[in-house]
Amino acid sequence: MNHEPKIGFVSLGCPKALVDSEQILTRLRAEGYAIVPSYQDAELVVVNTCGFIDAAVAESLDAIGEALTENGKVIVTGCLGAKGHVVRDMHPRVLAVTGPHACEEVMTAVHLHLPKPHDPFVDLVPPQGIKLTPRHYAYLKIAEGCNHRCTFCIIPQLRGDLVSRPIGEVLQEAENLVRAGCRELLIVSQDTSAYGVDLRYRTGFWNGRPLKTHMTPLAAALGELGVWVRLHYVYPYPHVDEVVPLMAEGRVLPYLDVPLQHASPRILKAMKRPANADDTLARIRRWREICPDITLRSTFIVGFPGETEDDFQHLLEFLQTATLDRVGCFSYSAVDGAPANALVNPVPEAVKQERQARLMEMQAAISAERLQRKVGRTLQVLVDAHNEEGEAVARSSADAPDIDGVVYIEGGMVLPVGEFAEVRIVDADQHDLYAERCETVRSKRKNHRSNH
Ligand code: SF4
Repeated sequence: MNHEPKIGFVSLGCPKALVDSEQILTRLRAEGYAIVPSYQDAELVVVNTCGFIDAAVAESLDAIGEALTENGKVIVTGCLGAKGHVVRDMHPRVLAVTGPHACEEVMTAVHLHLPKPHDPFVDLVPPQGIKLTPRHYAYLKIAEGCNHRCTFCIIPQLRGDLVSRPIGEVLQEAENLVRAGCRELLIVSQDTSAYGVDLRYRTGFWNGRPLKTHMTPLAAALGELGVWVRLHYVYPYPHVDEVVPLMAEGRVLPYLDVPLQHASPRILKAMKRPANADDTLARIRRWREICPDITLRSTFIVGFPGETEDDFQHLLEFLQTATLDRVGCFSYSAVDGAPANALVNPVPEAVKQERQARLMEMQAAISAERLQRKVGRTLQVLVDAHNEEGEAVARSSADAPDIDGVVYIEGGMVLPVGEFAEVRIVDADQHDLYAERCETVRSKRKNHRSNH
């Protein structure tokens, strides 16, 4: 018969803390832990604390002290846990400290110090979950829903307002993925730069370390995992400037996917987009000053209802000035239930198509010119596959899977899929780069020297 690991639970504080205790107890029972009524019977004790008034703080600290004396293995959660130093100063032996409403973080700490019993069904699922992507990269969703109300979009109707995942939970998932062999984390949500707004940037915990639920500390912490971290769907808010230095320092990939959708103020207003094209241009200049290597990707919609030739020209001029590295362009099509459907002056289908083609033709020249600048450089790439031509198909920091270009590496069959490699870029076209392995380059140079 399975041994049931035994946990003692002390619940202090108000009804909100009680609900937190109930959630944790429910998870513990669901995972097969037994809840026992005495310190002596328990293999570990969780203390849910209160930190509201001084008397409550004192009571909580006493309860932690008692659990440490009587049992010795103690995890602290709850309001007093939000002031982690108060707990650790008085009781440095506690195993972990988390803030309130932190069921996931408590469970992570419990798993670490008292592994959960084997469940033959649930344990078939690997710790990183079941992924549809190759083992070496994974999408990491940090929030669900959206607080914007862009008129062409029904995501807020479908998924509701923004709900950010606790930062400790996100980082734990990232750690599990890296442990399972993931080399690249692709951070996604509807609006990554808004991460934590709904939680008022509350402090969460990762391995006992307090971290604000905010894009910048999240990106910095992900950068510590030693894998590529790529940020998608980032809006050009002022605070995005804070993550660009992390890119310049090599802690996260110098890559930003910024969906801009248009540049004409009239159309952006009709779309109810949260951005202004002039500010965006200034921001892009600033990002490039801080991190000259940054790759900027964006998507645009042409043929939005009411878009005139002037609006479209405005967009083309914006693209000429912004010189983005990667651009996707869609011609507007109505989505059932979207407010934009009620707008007047729809653009005829033929005009939409023609504008899309003009935009893509112009951008292709810009993208090609930017790729050409990479010829002759040595880049780190991540190998995705081998092809029938005997090449490795890889991606550089500038290439997100499926949406950007790739790097073809001549003679790359020896490079293992899912691993990083150093390559020298020898050619480029509008989308892709062509490279040779650095060893090849070195041996060629050697040959070159020995021949002369
Ligand atoms: S387009 Fe993006 S930002 Fe706008 S409402 Fe939809 S999900 Fe939100």
